[in-house]
Amino acid sequence: MSTHVETPTPIKPSIYGLTLEQLTAWLGERGHKKSRAVQVWELLYRKRVTDFAAMEGVHAEAIKLLQDSFAIQTLTEHTKQESSDGTIKFLFKLSDGNLIETVMMRHKFGLSVCVTTQVGCNIGCSFCASGLLAKSRDLTSGEIVEQIMKVQLNLDSREQGERVSHVVVMGIGEPFDNYEHMSNFITVIKDHKGLAIGPRHITVSTCGLADKIREFADSDLQTNLAVSLHAPNDELRTRIMKINRAIPIAKLMDAIDYYLERTNRRITLEYILLKDVNDQREHALELAALIGDTRRALANVNLIPYNPVDEHSQYQRSTQESITAFYDTLKKQGISVSVRLEHGADIDAACGQLRSKQMKEA
Ligand code: SAH
Repeated sequence: MSTHVETPTPIKPSIYGLTLEQLTAWLGERGHKKSRAVQVWELLYRKRVTDFAAMEGVHAEAIKLLQDSFAIQTLTEHTKQESSDGTIKFLFKLSDGNLIETVMMRHKFGLSVCVTTQVGCNIGCSFCASGLLAKSRDLTSGEIVEQIMKVQLNLDSREQGERVSHVVVMGIGEPFDNYEHMSNFITVIKDHKGLAIGPRHITVSTCGLADKIREFADSDLQTNLAVSLHAPNDELRTRIMKINRAIPIAKLMDAIDYYLERTNRRITLEYILLKDVNDQREHALELAALIGDTRRALANVNLIPYNPVDEHSQYQRSTQESITAFYDTLKKQGISVSVRLEHGADIDAACGQLRSKQMKEA
């Protein structure tokens, strides 16, 4: 008896991975003029058409070309949890079966989406749930853009006229370890003819890959930058973030200074508060000294109360008193400081939690 094995249809890349410039070039090489690319672009991002066949007004030949080479959607919704505060956490399945998390949060100033950039993460910060699963691959820019589109399409289906206005690249993965795709992603979502999310409404967070911070400073991406500092000295930082061995604080600060000089934009220094580890008054004073007079004008410290990743975690969340005391000490030193608000505390809030739970259950 012979069994017939069907050849699987090759997975086409998502068209969301192309910038308008790239789409224009791609169609141009095939004999289509720029206005056609703009037409397709507007249908994708303004009308949010998810099927090439439904692209009304586009030349049939161009539709055929696009259909043969690209998919529009490659992610499927695996799980969706909605919190009482309006936060929605999505678990998406990629075309290769991997699961990723995307979170939408509601703020007074608008709606933000936190995107994932890699499947797993190799940086291995000791307090982070994302690193529990080693990186298996980078996401493509199409897969990162599609997270925003999926959320926006979800909002569209509710017919409240809501729009994703802010983006934080703070989900699973190290965006600067996937620089090209991250950069393409930003170019796509910023585009005025498409989603038009302002660069000042986009924040990229890095564990501190110094060379990439410099490259970012030289680029025209112009988004906000956040750096996960988390400790005021090398001994402590190496203890909680092993990347500090390769890129110690002095090297990181040099790259930050380069960024500040080049861009003259504000920078966020993220500081996770771990009980009795890095949350004492002496740490706050050391942090203020590290920031010093030159960086003070452009640096904002964002205190992040630790979110316990699981019951076996070696860390605990700082007490409310310690958080307030740390905040006050920095303030008194003239440092601009804020405390990160929590969203979706009732729905596996910490980054990577939902995914790692699903992977354990799977
Ligand atoms: N790879 C990027 C993005 C990580 S997530 C980076 O390192 O910056 C965004 C922020 O959440 C980082 O500052 C990260 O250190 C922090 N974070 C990770 N795990 C956390 C936890 N369990 N509780 C609170 N913050 C956490």
